[in-house]
Amino acid sequence: MSSIKQLSRPVPPGGTIGIIGGGQLGRMLALAASRLGLKTCIYNDTPDAPAFQVTQQSLTAPYDNLVKLTTFAQACDAVTFEFENLPAHAIAHLAERVPVRPGAHALAITQDRLSEKTFVEKLGLKTAPFFEVSSAQRAREAFARLNGRGILKTRRFGYDGKGQAKVASADEAAKAFDSFKGAPAILEGFVDFEYEASVVAARGGDGGFAAYDPPENEHENHILRRSTVPSRLGAAKVEEAKAIAQQIGEALEYVGVFAVELFVGKDGALLVNEIAPRVHNSGHWTIEACACSQFEQHIRAVAGWPLGNVVRHADAVMENIIGAEVDAWESLAKTGALHLYGKMQARTGRKMGHITRIRAK
Ligand code: AMP
Repeated sequence: MSSIKQLSRPVPPGGTIGIIGGGQLGRMLALAASRLGLKTCIYNDTPDAPAFQVTQQSLTAPYDNLVKLTTFAQACDAVTFEFENLPAHAIAHLAERVPVRPGAHALAITQDRLSEKTFVEKLGLKTAPFFEVSSAQRAREAFARLNGRGILKTRRFGYDGKGQAKVASADEAAKAFDSFKGAPAILEGFVDFEYEASVVAARGGDGGFAAYDPPENEHENHILRRSTVPSRLGAAKVEEAKAIAQQIGEALEYVGVFAVELFVGKDGALLVNEIAPRVHNSGHWTIEACACSQFEQHIRAVAGWPLGNVVRHADAVMENIIGAEVDAWESLAKTGALHLYGKMQARTGRKMGHITRIRAK
């Protein structure tokens, strides 16, 4: 019989938090852990991970290497993730050996757009209309049920617009499905939203809940360009957005930080686009503008510590630094709080850093 390891007491200072994934999110998590006197061990599938530069221990191996995952589990007091796509059997393997937060259930639901949207709908929350698509014929049939525009998305492994195609006819929907080379997909109705927002929130192991002020998010070429707080949501909608996140967090029995991406309709309706079971790009401004950042908050939750204070003491605008924009680091450094991720190659579309500009409230 397999059993799931639970955290029986908080990880004390000097303990080790394991992080699967060594990108910028893992890096900022490791920096936050360090400030709390915790060590990190970072597991990444390539040796050049940005987070390796700031961690005490690291492991490089494929994400489904069960021998290396066992070694990793033995080195850690609790384990978390900077990305949601670890294979289910690898998560189960880890969870038998070390407390894993968030748990396998939350990851399984949010790894797959179909199960995620179905889950959100069952909670009585609004989403774009969506249909399962497993063949070109199904793509045509699903398109016929939309009002002329849709987005075909692969069910798994999509990010920053990868595995997505806008479609405006049944033929385009069928062609887009074929271009995914058989990957299961969903077809969503295109939402003519007013703007996008997100709620970055945390749930503790004791069920406690805390949500940051929701930022307004602007995308360019499917990549987050800018997050601004406060958003245009008024006080009532801010509360509604936070309540949506709380409902989702409770239903997932979630432990840690997560983000709920929202479309704000022209009528003010809040539609759930996506749940990210991890710290989120639209929460980076919390480092400068809140008492406890999303990164510290996640480490606190994973380690079984009390949640920190999410109160925002400044207005903030966070902008991503993408690709060759990083060449301007010297002039950027004059204008705000600069975060560079230690990536050596500035490829097109690659997030190289971000800058946060704050103004005291
Ligand atoms: P996603 O990967 O689902 O987060 O989508 C990335 C971005 O594509 C979103 O932030 C939106 O800007 C846009 N998008 C995704 N789905 C839709 C939709 N159903 N209607 C309109 N825009 C969408």
